[in-house]
Amino acid sequence: MLSNTASRADTPAFTPVVPGLSVLRDVFVNLYYAFDPAQPQGPWVLIDAGLPGSASKIGAHAAELFGSEQPPAAILLTHGHFDHVGALDGLLKAWPEVPVFAHPLELPYLTGKSSYPPPDPTVGGGMMAYMSFVYPKHPYDFGSRVQALPADGSVPGLPGWRWLHTPGHTFGHVSFFREQDKVLVAGDAMTTVKGESGLYTLTQKQEVHGPPAYFTPDWDSARASVELLARMDIEVAATGHGIPMHGDELRRQLTALAAQFDAVERPKVGRYVKQPATADGGGVRFIPPPLVNPWVKGLAIGGAVLGLLALATSGGRKGRSQKPLGKPGHYTGPAGPRRYTDHGPDQRYSQQRTDRIETQYP
Ligand SMILES: [Zn+2]
Ligand SMILES: [Zn+2]
Repeated sequence: MLSNTASRADTPAFTPVVPGLSVLRDVFVNLYYAFDPAQPQGPWVLIDAGLPGSASKIGAHAAELFGSEQPPAAILLTHGHFDHVGALDGLLKAWPEVPVFAHPLELPYLTGKSSYPPPDPTVGGGMMAYMSFVYPKHPYDFGSRVQALPADGSVPGLPGWRWLHTPGHTFGHVSFFREQDKVLVAGDAMTTVKGESGLYTLTQKQEVHGPPAYFTPDWDSARASVELLARMDIEVAATGHGIPMHGDELRRQLTALAAQFDAVERPKVGRYVKQPATADGGGVRFIPPPLVNPWVKGLAIGGAVLGLLALATSGGRKGRSQKPLGKPGHYTGPAGPRRYTDHGPDQRYSQQRTDRIETQYP
């Protein structure tokens, strides 16, 4: 069932991963149906909610597994990016009683309070990265349907599982872990495909990588999360992108990735590479300025030189009005760091959770 040499061509879009966990590949993103292996008819939970427009497809596969009359006990979100919550609106309409859970630090982006830091197409790596500027940036607002995961690490609707805070790709990113057989639903904390590449996204060639680079605003945290996962001796990694991997090959690649994360995974250039965006329970607090494309920089310098030359040559002319060219002091510009003033009160969980997990999985 599990293979480390699979590709899109030989892997059905909807298939069991291990007993109690099935995957649905929704174009380029995965979502998961999780349940107690001893009760394959349910109850069950949905982990992540795919791309916009996928609600009926997700519901149809749920009906295949658990019958058409059985909504999930809960929907769990690894994070709130559009490819993981795209169909949530439609699902919530179809399942009006079902609660949704996410990390408290992820709630601002799911309740309309804050937008994520902008994606960073300057990290390069392939078509998926260059295209990232067209991805939706507005915050979703699921209102009171979304609530915080329990602080004790338990997972609603999934006894035997626990959630782990794995930030970096987003501030409140979580992964879900079944301790008994070390099955991880990783979200985008790690992937098993080179997510920035259009070609690899198409073929789904399996290899362990970090989070999709263009959407990752904190690389130190992303590394710490991969290091945490590498220490956990995972048997199966069911990721948000890529075909699930398992066993020694998974652990070998994950250990290597953690050891060389900055060298092989952290982009050489990018908006967030040297300085992360920061956030708290109220949403984004600081976004580093965008990198200026060298061509644009060159044109700007060239323009400034020409402007100075023009001024110098016109300066001696009589009767020319000396209107100021502008008010430089009022220019706040796209290059300045953006600061948010709407401070939220809430730093629940973050450090405390990470410390506890760190000590639990040395
Ligand atoms: Zn993501
Ligand atoms: Zn994703």
